Amino acid sequence: MQAMILERQREPLRPAELPEPVVGPGQVLISVHACGVCRTDLHIVDGELGEPKLPLVMGHQIVGTVVGRGEGAERFAEGRRVGVPWLGWTCGECRYCTSGRENLCDRARFTGYDLDGGYAELAVADERFCFPIPEGYSDEQAAPLLCAGLIGYRALRLVGDAERIGLYGFGASAHILCQVAAHQGRRVFAFTKPGDEKGQAFARQLGAEWAGGSDEAPPEEIDGAVVFAPVGSLMTTALRATAKGARIMSAGIHMSDVPSFPYEQLWGERALGSVANLTRQDGEEFMALAPRIPVRIEVEVRPLAEANEALASIRTGALKGAAVLAVGRATS
Ligand SMILES: [Zn+2]
Ligand SMILES: [Zn+2]
Repeated sequence: MQAMILERQREPLRPAELPEPVVGPGQVLISVHACGVCRTDLHIVDGELGEPKLPLVMGHQIVGTVVGRGEGAERFAEGRRVGVPWLGWTCGECRYCTSGRENLCDRARFTGYDLDGGYAELAVADERFCFPIPEGYSDEQAAPLLCAGLIGYRALRLVGDAERIGLYGFGASAHILCQVAAHQGRRVFAFTKPGDEKGQAFARQLGAEWAGGSDEAPPEEIDGAVVFAPVGSLMTTALRATAKGARIMSAGIHMSDVPSFPYEQLWGERALGSVANLTRQDGEEFMALAPRIPVRIEVEVRPLAEANEALASIRTGALKGAAVLAVGRATS
């Protein structure tokens, strides 16, 4: 099968012809139709996340159909459309797994990092960690739901019931979360790179009440924020914009250092935190919620062979919505 593989960190992916993956017990073999490209993939390539499986097939927002089943795999019939997220396996035994926090499992394995992912024509996945894909989304539109949507949704929940919410960094995840937050009746304040007027107009189209540069102060205090951009200073920028009781969550897996700040800025029951990974429950909830809103997904689709170009578009931010690779026989 054709794949784009990472052989060494800090080098571009290269095309490769790989043997078909062998489906193990409890796993499904998936014909990949589309795979979302995430900023985490960029952190893996750049070496900001250490010790990936190498060589590695990246990609943790996989949409495809089941074409084979390993021993004991019965959850999805052949031909069924499924999604594979970042959380690929958990131990089920550690103190996190047994307390409803499998996202923090000590021995978790992640798709497209510890396990081969979806930048390939075929993928295998543990059926317990796959999700059914809501109808009404094409394969390419559904792919970003699996990380950009899901982990953003978890971050939004951890912010609590903030009425005025700031979204810092308006990429794949924020463009989904903006719609979810507006649907929940929250007032959204979107922060883009300074001067990104196209991004700001896009945010307003998706329900943001106000959009401006991250160097601007919002027109009023915010009650909570999610920081999507991997820029530590945005945590303190957001903090200075908040009202008492606000929570500020970083939704990314890697971020530059957070600068120090006077304690009085944190005083007033403000909190800074992070969101790590997802639980299967997050996935089930979000996959049910997205079509009810309905969340509209804006994608820039490229063929699998252009995975490096798709990664570059995330790096430069020259992207409206989410980057997705079309693999095999995608719909759309
Ligand atoms: Zn565990
Ligand atoms: Zn991701």
